Amino acid sequence: MEIQPRDVHFSTVPICLRRKEEIFWIVKEEQLTSCVWINLSFTRTETIPKRKSAIQLQVKTILNRVQRFVGFVYREVRLLCVQGQPDSIEISIEPHAGISRRCSRCQRPAPGYDCLSARRWLFVPLWGISTYFCYAPRRVQCAEHGVVVEHIPWSDGKRPVTCAMMGFLARWARRLSWRETARAFHTSWEGVYRSVEWFVEWGLSHRQLREVHSIGVDEIHWGRGLKADNFLTVIYQIDAHCRRLLWVGKRRSQATLRRGLRALGPEVVKGLRFVCSDMWKPYLQVIAAQAGQALHVLDRFHIASHLNQAVDQVRRAESTRLRAQNQQTAQRLKHMRWPLLRRGSRVRGRARQKLAALLASKLATARAWDLKETFSYFWHYKSVIWAGAFLDYWCFRAMRSRLEPMKRVARMLRTHEPLILNWFRAKGEISSGVVEGLNNKIRVVTRRSYGFRTYNAMEIALYHNLGRLPEPESPHKFC
Ligand SMILES: [Zn+2]
Repeated sequence: MEIQPRDVHFSTVPICLRRKEEIFWIVKEEQLTSCVWINLSFTRTETIPKRKSAIQLQVKTILNRVQRFVGFVYREVRLLCVQGQPDSIEISIEPHAGISRRCSRCQRPAPGYDCLSARRWLFVPLWGISTYFCYAPRRVQCAEHGVVVEHIPWSDGKRPVTCAMMGFLARWARRLSWRETARAFHTSWEGVYRSVEWFVEWGLSHRQLREVHSIGVDEIHWGRGLKADNFLTVIYQIDAHCRRLLWVGKRRSQATLRRGLRALGPEVVKGLRFVCSDMWKPYLQVIAAQAGQALHVLDRFHIASHLNQAVDQVRRAESTRLRAQNQQTAQRLKHMRWPLLRRGSRVRGRARQKLAALLASKLATARAWDLKETFSYFWHYKSVIWAGAFLDYWCFRAMRSRLEPMKRVARMLRTHEPLILNWFRAKGEISSGVVEGLNNKIRVVTRRSYGFRTYNAMEIALYHNLGRLPEPESPHKFC
Protein backbone atom coordinates (compact mmCIF):
# COMPACT_ATOMS: atom_id res chain seq x y z
CA MET A 1 0.00 0.00 0.00
CA GLU A 2 1.42 3.33 -1.05
CA ILE A 3 0.72 6.33 1.13
CA GLN A 4 1.15 9.82 -0.22
CA PRO A 5 2.72 12.52 1.95
CA ARG A 6 -0.57 14.44 2.06
CA ASP A 7 -2.25 11.52 3.92
CA VAL A 8 0.05 11.77 6.84
CA HIS A 9 -1.22 13.71 9.82
CA PHE A 10 1.83 15.48 11.11
CA SER A 11 0.09 16.18 14.37
CA THR A 12 0.71 12.56 15.36
CA VAL A 13 3.68 11.93 17.62
CA PRO A 14 6.85 10.15 16.74
CA ILE A 15 6.94 7.06 18.93
CA CYS A 16 10.02 5.27 17.82
CA LEU A 17 13.43 6.13 16.50
CA ARG A 18 14.71 3.05 14.78
CA ARG A 19 17.72 4.27 12.93
CA LYS A 20 19.36 7.65 13.08
CA GLU A 21 18.20 8.83 9.69
CA GLU A 22 14.71 7.25 9.81
CA ILE A 23 11.89 8.48 11.96
CA PHE A 24 8.74 6.37 12.11
CA TRP A 25 5.35 7.90 12.43
CA ILE A 26 2.21 6.23 13.43
CA VAL A 27 -0.84 7.07 11.39
CA LYS A 28 -4.29 5.89 12.01
CA GLU A 29 -6.55 5.87 9.08
CA GLU A 30 -10.31 5.90 9.32
CA GLN A 31 -10.82 3.08 6.87
CA LEU A 32 -8.24 0.75 8.36
CA THR A 33 -8.42 -0.79 11.78
CA SER A 34 -4.72 -1.60 11.77
CA CYS A 35 -1.89 0.80 12.41
CA VAL A 36 0.43 1.79 9.63
CA TRP A 37 4.10 2.43 10.01
CA ILE A 38 5.42 4.97 7.58
CA ASN A 39 8.98 5.75 6.89
CA LEU A 40 9.58 9.47 6.70
CA SER A 41 11.42 9.02 3.45
CA PHE A 42 8.17 7.52 2.02
CA THR A 43 10.01 4.73 0.34
CA ARG A 44 8.38 1.85 2.22
CA THR A 45 5.30 1.21 4.30
CA GLU A 46 4.35 -1.86 6.31
CA THR A 47 1.16 -2.93 8.04
CA ILE A 48 1.34 -4.62 11.45
CA PRO A 49 -1.56 -6.11 13.41
CA LYS A 50 -3.19 -4.01 16.07
CA ARG A 51 -1.33 -4.34 19.41
CA LYS A 52 -2.64 -4.67 22.93
CA SER A 53 -1.06 -2.64 25.67
CA ALA A 54 2.57 -3.57 26.13
CA ILE A 55 2.42 -4.21 29.91
CA GLN A 56 -0.31 -6.81 29.66
CA LEU A 57 1.56 -8.60 26.95
CA GLN A 58 4.66 -8.82 29.09
CA VAL A 59 2.96 -10.34 32.15
CA LYS A 60 1.30 -12.91 29.94
CA THR A 61 4.58 -13.67 28.22
CA ILE A 62 6.24 -14.33 31.56
CA LEU A 63 3.31 -16.46 32.73
CA ASN A 64 3.49 -18.51 29.56
CA ARG A 65 7.17 -19.08 30.20
CA VAL A 66 6.96 -20.08 33.87
CA GLN A 67 3.47 -21.58 34.20
CA ARG A 68 2.17 -22.87 30.91
CA PHE A 69 -0.86 -25.14 31.14
CA VAL A 70 -1.78 -27.27 28.16
CA GLY A 71 -5.39 -26.70 27.20
CA PHE A 72 -5.65 -23.27 28.85
CA VAL A 73 -4.71 -19.74 27.84
CA TYR A 74 -4.14 -16.58 29.84
CA ARG A 75 -6.73 -14.09 28.72
CA GLU A 76 -6.32 -10.90 30.69
CA VAL A 77 -4.30 -9.41 33.54
CA ARG A 78 -6.10 -6.82 35.64
CA LEU A 79 -4.84 -4.69 38.51
CA LEU A 80 -7.60 -4.05 41.05
CA CYS A 81 -7.20 -0.93 43.16
CA VAL A 82 -8.84 0.09 46.41
CA GLN A 83 -8.75 3.84 47.11
CA GLY A 84 -6.06 4.30 44.49
CA GLN A 85 -3.76 1.69 46.02
CA PRO A 86 -3.06 -1.62 44.25
CA ASP A 87 -5.02 -4.33 46.04
CA SER A 88 -4.78 -7.44 43.93
CA ILE A 89 -3.94 -8.72 40.47
CA GLU A 90 -6.44 -10.93 38.69
CA ILE A 91 -5.30 -13.17 35.87
CA SER A 92 -8.23 -14.58 33.97
CA ILE A 93 -7.78 -17.94 32.31
CA GLU A 94 -9.87 -19.47 29.53
CA PRO A 95 -9.94 -22.92 28.06
CA HIS A 96 -8.11 -23.48 24.79
CA ALA A 97 -10.74 -23.91 22.10
CA GLY A 98 -8.91 -26.67 20.25
CA ILE A 99 -8.04 -28.93 23.18
CA SER A 100 -10.66 -31.12 24.81
CA ARG A 101 -11.27 -31.09 28.56
CA ARG A 102 -10.12 -33.94 30.79
CA CYS A 103 -11.63 -35.83 33.68
CA SER A 104 -10.07 -34.80 37.02
CA ARG A 105 -10.05 -38.40 38.27
CA CYS A 106 -8.51 -40.31 35.36
CA GLN A 107 -7.20 -37.34 33.32
CA ARG A 108 -8.55 -38.84 30.11
CA PRO A 109 -10.36 -36.61 27.58
CA ALA A 110 -14.10 -36.59 28.15
CA PRO A 111 -17.13 -34.85 26.60
CA GLY A 112 -18.30 -31.64 28.24
CA TYR A 113 -21.29 -31.44 30.56
CA ASP A 114 -21.72 -27.87 31.83
CA CYS A 115 -19.80 -24.91 33.23
CA LEU A 116 -19.60 -23.85 36.89
CA SER A 117 -19.32 -20.29 38.12
CA ALA A 118 -15.91 -18.60 38.19
CA ARG A 119 -13.53 -19.30 41.09
CA ARG A 120 -10.31 -17.71 42.27
CA TRP A 121 -7.04 -19.42 43.20
CA LEU A 122 -4.28 -17.62 45.05
CA PHE A 123 -1.11 -17.47 42.99
CA VAL A 124 2.46 -16.43 43.91
CA PRO A 125 2.36 -12.68 44.67
CA LEU A 126 3.73 -10.37 41.96
CA TRP A 127 5.52 -7.26 43.21
CA GLY A 128 4.17 -8.03 46.67
CA ILE A 129 0.57 -7.76 45.44
CA SER A 130 -1.77 -10.70 46.04
CA THR A 131 -2.35 -12.41 42.72
CA TYR A 132 -5.26 -14.65 41.74
CA PHE A 133 -6.09 -16.96 38.86
CA CYS A 134 -9.72 -16.58 37.79
CA TYR A 135 -11.35 -19.43 35.97
CA ALA A 136 -14.80 -20.92 35.55
CA PRO A 137 -14.28 -24.69 35.78
CA ARG A 138 -16.25 -26.89 33.44
CA ARG A 139 -17.67 -30.30 34.21
CA VAL A 140 -17.19 -33.37 32.09
CA GLN A 141 -19.15 -36.54 31.66
CA CYS A 142 -16.52 -39.24 32.04
CA ALA A 143 -17.51 -42.71 30.89
CA GLU A 144 -15.96 -44.18 34.01
CA HIS A 145 -16.47 -41.53 36.69
CA GLY A 146 -19.71 -39.85 35.66
CA VAL A 147 -20.19 -36.07 35.90
CA VAL A 148 -17.06 -34.60 37.52
CA VAL A 149 -15.14 -31.33 37.42
CA GLU A 150 -12.52 -31.17 34.70
CA HIS A 151 -8.80 -31.55 35.44
CA ILE A 152 -7.37 -28.17 36.45
CA PRO A 153 -3.56 -28.41 36.30
CA TRP A 154 -2.78 -25.49 38.65
CA SER A 155 -5.09 -26.67 41.40
CA ASP A 156 -5.14 -29.61 43.78
CA GLY A 157 -8.74 -30.46 44.52
CA LYS A 158 -10.77 -28.09 46.62
CA ARG A 159 -8.05 -25.81 48.00
CA PRO A 160 -8.38 -22.19 46.83
CA VAL A 161 -4.59 -21.95 46.39
CA THR A 162 -2.57 -22.85 43.29
CA CYS A 163 0.02 -25.64 43.55
CA ALA A 164 2.70 -23.07 42.66
CA MET A 165 1.73 -20.93 45.66
CA MET A 166 1.58 -23.94 48.00
CA GLY A 167 5.07 -24.99 46.94
CA PHE A 168 6.27 -21.41 47.31
CA LEU A 169 4.91 -21.11 50.87
CA ALA A 170 6.15 -24.57 51.85
CA ARG A 171 9.71 -23.81 50.70
CA TRP A 172 9.73 -20.55 52.60
CA ALA A 173 8.29 -22.28 55.68
CA ARG A 174 11.57 -24.21 55.92
CA ARG A 175 13.57 -21.02 56.22
CA LEU A 176 11.21 -18.96 58.36
CA SER A 177 8.71 -19.86 61.03
CA TRP A 178 5.21 -20.46 59.71
CA ARG A 179 3.94 -17.28 61.29
CA GLU A 180 6.67 -15.20 59.68
CA THR A 181 6.00 -16.84 56.31
CA ALA A 182 2.31 -16.02 56.59
CA ARG A 183 3.09 -12.42 57.48
CA ALA A 184 5.66 -11.95 54.69
CA PHE A 185 3.36 -13.20 51.94
CA HIS A 186 0.03 -11.75 53.12
CA THR A 187 -1.61 -15.03 53.95
CA SER A 188 -2.78 -16.79 57.10
CA TRP A 189 -1.01 -19.26 59.39
CA GLU A 190 -3.64 -21.75 58.34
CA GLY A 191 -2.77 -21.14 54.69
CA VAL A 192 0.90 -21.92 55.35
CA TYR A 193 -0.03 -25.01 57.37
CA ARG A 194 -2.26 -26.37 54.59
CA SER A 195 0.46 -25.69 52.01
CA VAL A 196 3.14 -27.52 54.01
CA GLU A 197 0.67 -30.33 54.64
CA TRP A 198 0.06 -30.73 50.93
CA PHE A 199 3.83 -30.61 50.22
CA VAL A 200 4.57 -33.28 52.86
CA GLU A 201 1.70 -35.54 51.79
CA TRP A 202 2.98 -35.44 48.24
CA GLY A 203 6.52 -36.19 49.42
CA LEU A 204 5.49 -39.08 51.66
CA SER A 205 3.48 -40.73 48.92
CA HIS A 206 6.36 -40.39 46.43
CA ARG A 207 9.38 -41.24 48.60
CA GLN A 208 11.46 -44.34 48.03
CA LEU A 209 12.39 -46.52 51.00
CA ARG A 210 15.13 -48.48 49.31
CA GLU A 211 18.55 -49.27 50.78
CA VAL A 212 17.58 -48.58 54.37
CA HIS A 213 20.13 -50.63 56.35
CA SER A 214 20.53 -48.77 59.63
CA ILE A 215 17.86 -47.07 61.67
CA GLY A 216 17.93 -45.17 64.94
CA VAL A 217 14.94 -45.22 67.28
CA ASP A 218 14.56 -42.54 69.87
CA GLU A 219 12.08 -40.74 72.05
CA ILE A 220 11.66 -36.99 72.11
CA HIS A 221 9.94 -34.86 74.67
CA TRP A 222 7.84 -31.93 73.51
CA GLY A 223 5.44 -29.50 75.10
CA ARG A 224 4.99 -29.15 78.84
CA GLY A 225 4.73 -31.84 81.46
CA LEU A 226 5.59 -35.53 81.48
CA LYS A 227 2.31 -36.95 80.25
CA ALA A 228 2.51 -39.93 77.90
CA ASP A 229 1.24 -37.70 75.09
CA ASN A 230 4.19 -35.35 75.54
CA PHE A 231 6.59 -37.90 74.10
CA LEU A 232 7.22 -38.79 70.50
CA THR A 233 8.83 -41.86 69.04
CA VAL A 234 11.02 -41.09 66.05
CA ILE A 235 12.66 -43.46 63.58
CA TYR A 236 15.62 -42.17 61.61
CA GLN A 237 17.59 -43.64 58.78
CA ILE A 238 21.24 -43.34 59.84
CA ASP A 239 23.05 -44.82 56.86
CA ALA A 240 26.13 -42.92 55.75
CA HIS A 241 24.59 -42.21 52.34
CA CYS A 242 21.27 -40.93 53.66
CA ARG A 243 20.27 -39.55 57.03
CA ARG A 244 16.67 -38.60 57.36
CA LEU A 245 13.58 -38.84 59.45
CA LEU A 246 11.52 -41.84 58.44
CA TRP A 247 8.64 -41.80 60.86
CA VAL A 248 7.19 -39.89 63.85
CA GLY A 249 4.48 -41.12 66.20
CA LYS A 250 2.82 -40.03 69.39
CA ARG A 251 3.87 -41.63 72.72
CA ARG A 252 6.77 -43.98 73.38
CA SER A 253 5.06 -47.30 73.93
CA GLN A 254 5.51 -50.68 72.29
CA ALA A 255 2.37 -50.03 70.25
CA THR A 256 3.87 -46.82 68.88
CA LEU A 257 7.06 -48.45 67.69
CA ARG A 258 5.15 -51.38 66.23
CA ARG A 259 2.99 -48.90 64.33
CA GLY A 260 6.15 -47.17 63.06
CA LEU A 261 7.76 -50.38 61.84
CA ARG A 262 4.50 -51.35 60.16
CA ALA A 263 4.44 -47.98 58.39
CA LEU A 264 7.94 -48.62 57.02
CA GLY A 265 6.78 -51.94 55.61
CA PRO A 266 7.98 -55.52 56.14
CA GLU A 267 10.60 -55.28 53.38
CA VAL A 268 12.41 -52.41 55.08
CA VAL A 269 12.29 -54.12 58.50
CA LYS A 270 13.63 -57.38 57.07
CA GLY A 271 16.47 -55.57 55.30
CA LEU A 272 17.77 -53.85 58.45
CA ARG A 273 21.36 -54.59 59.50
CA PHE A 274 21.74 -52.20 62.43
CA VAL A 275 19.27 -50.74 64.86
CA CYS A 276 20.47 -48.07 67.22
CA SER A 277 18.37 -47.11 70.24
CA ASP A 278 18.51 -46.12 73.87
CA MET A 279 17.71 -48.37 76.81
CA TRP A 280 14.00 -47.69 76.88
CA LYS A 281 12.47 -51.09 77.58
CA PRO A 282 9.45 -51.04 75.22
CA TYR A 283 11.78 -50.29 72.31
CA LEU A 284 14.19 -53.07 73.23
CA GLN A 285 11.36 -55.60 73.34
CA VAL A 286 9.80 -54.57 70.03
CA ILE A 287 13.16 -54.43 68.22
CA ALA A 288 14.11 -57.89 69.52
CA ALA A 289 10.77 -59.30 68.36
CA GLN A 290 10.49 -57.64 64.96
CA ALA A 291 14.05 -56.98 63.75
CA GLY A 292 15.87 -59.87 65.39
CA GLN A 293 18.26 -60.27 62.45
CA ALA A 294 19.67 -56.74 62.87
CA LEU A 295 22.53 -55.99 65.25
CA HIS A 296 21.02 -53.93 68.03
CA VAL A 297 23.39 -51.22 69.22
CA LEU A 298 22.86 -49.05 72.27
CA ASP A 299 23.70 -45.53 71.42
CA ARG A 300 26.85 -44.07 72.95
CA PHE A 301 25.21 -40.69 73.30
CA HIS A 302 22.45 -42.07 75.50
CA ILE A 303 24.85 -43.84 77.85
CA ALA A 304 26.81 -40.61 78.22
CA SER A 305 23.61 -38.72 79.01
CA HIS A 306 22.64 -41.29 81.69
CA LEU A 307 26.05 -40.80 83.30
CA ASN A 308 25.68 -37.04 83.19
CA GLN A 309 22.27 -37.23 84.81
CA ALA A 310 23.71 -39.38 87.59
CA VAL A 311 26.53 -36.90 88.24
CA ASP A 312 24.01 -34.09 88.34
CA GLN A 313 21.81 -35.94 90.82
CA VAL A 314 24.80 -36.49 93.11
CA ARG A 315 25.73 -32.81 92.86
CA ARG A 316 22.24 -31.58 93.65
CA ALA A 317 21.80 -33.88 96.63
CA GLU A 318 25.19 -32.94 98.02
CA SER A 319 24.63 -29.25 97.45
CA THR A 320 21.38 -29.36 99.44
CA ARG A 321 23.05 -31.32 102.23
CA LEU A 322 26.04 -28.96 102.45
CA ARG A 323 23.94 -25.82 102.42
CA ALA A 324 22.16 -27.07 105.54
CA GLN A 325 25.49 -27.75 107.29
CA ASN A 326 28.19 -25.41 106.11
CA GLN A 327 27.78 -22.44 103.80
CA GLN A 328 31.47 -22.22 102.89
CA THR A 329 31.82 -25.78 101.63
CA ALA A 330 28.55 -25.36 99.74
CA GLN A 331 30.17 -22.50 97.78
CA ARG A 332 32.42 -25.05 96.08
CA LEU A 333 29.47 -26.58 94.23
CA LYS A 334 27.97 -23.28 93.18
CA HIS A 335 27.90 -22.63 89.40
CA MET A 336 29.53 -26.00 88.80
CA ARG A 337 26.71 -27.70 86.92
CA TRP A 338 27.97 -27.14 83.36
CA PRO A 339 31.72 -27.64 84.06
CA LEU A 340 30.82 -30.98 85.65
CA LEU A 341 28.66 -32.09 82.75
CA ARG A 342 31.17 -31.20 80.04
CA ARG A 343 33.85 -33.57 78.92
CA GLY A 344 36.81 -33.07 81.30
CA SER A 345 39.25 -32.12 78.55
CA ARG A 346 36.92 -29.36 77.37
CA VAL A 347 36.80 -27.46 80.67
CA ARG A 348 39.19 -24.50 80.51
CA GLY A 349 40.10 -21.29 82.29
CA ARG A 350 38.63 -20.35 85.64
CA ALA A 351 36.12 -23.22 85.51
CA ARG A 352 39.10 -25.59 85.27
CA GLN A 353 40.64 -24.11 88.43
CA LYS A 354 37.36 -24.47 90.31
CA LEU A 355 36.99 -28.01 89.04
CA ALA A 356 40.54 -28.92 90.15
CA ALA A 357 39.82 -27.49 93.61
CA LEU A 358 36.57 -29.46 93.78
CA LEU A 359 38.28 -32.70 92.74
CA ALA A 360 40.88 -32.27 95.46
CA SER A 361 38.11 -31.91 98.05
CA LYS A 362 36.98 -35.56 98.25
CA LEU A 363 33.36 -34.53 97.96
CA ALA A 364 30.88 -37.11 96.65
CA THR A 365 30.41 -35.00 93.50
CA ALA A 366 34.13 -35.26 92.79
CA ARG A 367 34.00 -39.04 93.01
CA ALA A 368 30.96 -39.19 90.74
CA TRP A 369 32.69 -36.94 88.21
CA ASP A 370 35.78 -39.13 88.31
CA LEU A 371 33.70 -42.23 87.56
CA LYS A 372 32.03 -40.48 84.64
CA GLU A 373 35.37 -39.37 83.18
CA THR A 374 36.88 -42.85 83.59
CA PHE A 375 34.03 -44.34 81.63
CA SER A 376 34.96 -42.30 78.55
CA TYR A 377 37.98 -44.62 78.06
CA PHE A 378 35.52 -47.41 77.37
CA TRP A 379 34.84 -46.09 73.87
CA HIS A 380 38.53 -46.21 72.89
CA TYR A 381 38.71 -50.02 72.93
CA LYS A 382 38.90 -51.92 69.67
CA SER A 383 38.38 -55.42 70.96
CA VAL A 384 35.02 -56.55 72.31
CA ILE A 385 36.69 -58.73 74.98
CA TRP A 386 38.80 -55.93 76.41
CA ALA A 387 35.88 -53.53 76.31
CA GLY A 388 33.83 -56.10 78.23
CA ALA A 389 36.61 -56.42 80.82
CA PHE A 390 36.74 -52.66 81.25
CA LEU A 391 32.96 -52.50 81.65
CA ASP A 392 33.10 -55.14 84.42
CA TYR A 393 35.87 -53.22 86.19
CA TRP A 394 34.00 -49.94 85.94
CA CYS A 395 30.73 -51.40 87.23
CA PHE A 396 32.62 -52.99 90.15
CA ARG A 397 34.08 -49.58 91.06
CA ALA A 398 30.73 -47.81 90.68
CA MET A 399 28.94 -50.35 92.86
CA ARG A 400 31.44 -49.70 95.66
CA SER A 401 31.25 -45.90 95.31
CA ARG A 402 28.39 -45.49 97.83
CA LEU A 403 26.76 -43.13 95.32
CA GLU A 404 23.25 -44.39 94.61
CA PRO A 405 22.78 -42.66 91.19
CA MET A 406 26.11 -44.09 89.96
CA LYS A 407 25.17 -47.53 91.23
CA ARG A 408 21.92 -47.28 89.31
CA VAL A 409 23.83 -46.57 86.08
CA ALA A 410 26.18 -49.49 86.77
CA ARG A 411 23.23 -51.86 87.28
CA MET A 412 21.67 -50.64 84.05
CA LEU A 413 24.91 -51.12 82.11
CA ARG A 414 25.26 -54.65 83.48
CA THR A 415 21.72 -55.53 82.39
CA HIS A 416 22.34 -54.32 78.85
CA GLU A 417 25.97 -55.43 78.57
CA PRO A 418 25.56 -57.52 75.36
CA LEU A 419 23.77 -54.67 73.56
CA ILE A 420 26.35 -52.14 74.72
CA LEU A 421 29.18 -54.36 73.49
CA ASN A 422 27.44 -54.54 70.08
CA TRP A 423 28.75 -51.03 69.65
CA PHE A 424 32.23 -52.51 69.13
CA ARG A 425 30.89 -55.17 66.78
CA ALA A 426 29.26 -52.48 64.63
CA LYS A 427 32.25 -50.16 64.81
CA GLY A 428 32.77 -48.10 61.71
CA GLU A 429 29.24 -48.81 60.50
CA ILE A 430 27.32 -46.42 62.70
CA SER A 431 28.57 -42.95 63.42
CA SER A 432 27.96 -41.93 67.01
CA GLY A 433 26.86 -38.39 66.47
CA VAL A 434 24.15 -39.05 63.92
CA VAL A 435 21.21 -39.71 66.22
CA GLU A 436 22.32 -36.90 68.49
CA GLY A 437 22.61 -34.51 65.54
CA LEU A 438 19.15 -35.40 64.27
CA ASN A 439 17.74 -35.01 67.76
CA ASN A 440 19.22 -31.54 67.99
CA LYS A 441 17.62 -30.64 64.68
CA ILE A 442 14.26 -31.87 65.99
CA ARG A 443 14.71 -29.66 69.01
CA VAL A 444 15.34 -26.66 66.75
CA VAL A 445 12.10 -27.39 64.87
CA THR A 446 10.04 -27.92 68.03
CA ARG A 447 11.52 -24.83 69.64
CA ARG A 448 10.46 -22.80 66.63
CA SER A 449 7.11 -24.43 67.24
CA TYR A 450 5.35 -21.65 69.13
CA GLY A 451 2.94 -21.59 66.23
CA PHE A 452 2.24 -25.33 66.32
CA ARG A 453 -1.04 -25.63 68.11
CA THR A 454 -1.52 -29.31 67.49
CA TYR A 455 0.50 -32.46 67.32
CA ASN A 456 -0.41 -32.90 63.66
CA ALA A 457 1.12 -29.55 62.74
CA MET A 458 4.36 -30.48 64.49
CA GLU A 459 4.49 -33.88 62.85
CA ILE A 460 4.15 -32.23 59.45
CA ALA A 461 6.85 -29.69 60.31
CA LEU A 462 9.24 -32.48 61.33
CA TYR A 463 8.72 -34.42 58.10
CA HIS A 464 9.05 -31.19 56.17
CA ASN A 465 12.38 -30.21 57.71
CA LEU A 466 14.07 -33.56 58.32
CA GLY A 467 12.37 -36.07 56.03
CA ARG A 468 14.32 -35.22 52.86
CA LEU A 469 11.11 -35.81 50.98
CA PRO A 470 10.89 -35.49 47.21
CA GLU A 471 9.19 -32.27 46.10
CA PRO A 472 6.29 -31.87 43.67
CA GLU A 473 7.58 -31.19 40.19
CA SER A 474 7.07 -27.67 38.94
CA PRO A 475 8.16 -26.10 35.66
CA HIS A 476 9.44 -23.08 37.57
CA LYS A 477 10.81 -22.63 41.08
CA PHE A 478 9.53 -19.41 42.57
CA CYS A 479 12.06 -19.46 45.40
ZN1 LIG B 1 -12.62 -40.29 34.57
